[in-house]
Amino acid sequence: METSYAAIEVTAPGQFSSVRRPLRDPGADEARIRVEACGVCHSDSATVDGAWPGISFPRVPGHEVVGRIDALGSSVRGWAVGQRVGVGFLGGSCGYCEFCRGGDLVSCRNQDYTGIQHDGGYAEVMLAKASGLVSIPEGASSVDAAPLLCAGLTTFSALRNAPAKAGDLVAVLGIGGLGHLAVQYARAMGFEVAAIARGADKADLAKELGAHHYIDSAAVDTAEALRALGGARVAVITASGGKAAAATVKGLRPGGVTIVLGVGGEPIEVSSVDLVFGGRRLEGALTGNPATSEATLRFSALSGVSAMIETVPLEEAAAAYAKMMEGKARFRMVLTMPAYVASGGSEATPRREERTS
Ligand SMILES: [Zn+2]
Ligand SMILES: [Zn+2]
Repeated sequence: METSYAAIEVTAPGQFSSVRRPLRDPGADEARIRVEACGVCHSDSATVDGAWPGISFPRVPGHEVVGRIDALGSSVRGWAVGQRVGVGFLGGSCGYCEFCRGGDLVSCRNQDYTGIQHDGGYAEVMLAKASGLVSIPEGASSVDAAPLLCAGLTTFSALRNAPAKAGDLVAVLGIGGLGHLAVQYARAMGFEVAAIARGADKADLAKELGAHHYIDSAAVDTAEALRALGGARVAVITASGGKAAAATVKGLRPGGVTIVLGVGGEPIEVSSVDLVFGGRRLEGALTGNPATSEATLRFSALSGVSAMIETVPLEEAAAAYAKMMEGKARFRMVLTMPAYVASGGSEATPRREERTS
């Protein structure tokens, strides 16, 4: 067996370096994974641009990882060598902190973020804490599953936990890496879906993804447009603009909630009047736990939801990252590893027939 593997390290903010690393045995609570595919996510900028406070380099980014276990630590239970698994943004809960004991694994106090505080999936091999592993169903290809572990989980989990019932109006702000999944999930969950983005050119795509309504925020007032539809029960924010997010709060029906999923620097300014009169809420949601990640994969397969992906070989990670950051990815870039490509497994499953309604 090879004693080293290829990895893409970030050595300083904005600096990618292609290296070979020595193969290490997994720690007692870890699995070693032969990575097949890894999605490129906007949150990778926490590592690549050095935006995460106190981040240390070199660091391998990537938190949408799918591969096969090739070695297990001595204390790992419930996982097997050869099993195909995924790793998302949350690196694995501790099991003993207050939040873990209360069943809130996402808020675990002792949880690393994959690709930020430990090395992630821009590599042929990754070590992952077993408590963070997600089981990948056989029906899902690794390239298709990868983006669902972060972008899919984040949008699916937020919508599944949201207080909307079938038939309620759900607004999705932004039709990018997160938003194009959120629109599909919202439609598949039985909501009336309004997609909001800037420009008329996104209207056809929004409808193809399943939106019943398209609101061009550059042409019309978003809040008025939502109120004309009766007001949104839920608005999920997948874009980073604070003003656009604030507009959805004004477009909520009483008791409605705007859920922020995309992180950006611009403050979201809402008036106390809009919150108090009508009991509207503004909240955030961070990804989800491993069981919800498995539910995301199951629901996606059952309902035909998939990410639109573009696969790129590992060695072109820097170019893939740059394309994503420029907003030119349509819609998720997925890195593929040489051995996986050689095995012929890297083809994305063709999307099912586009929706006609
Ligand atoms: Zn992510
Ligand atoms: Zn914990």
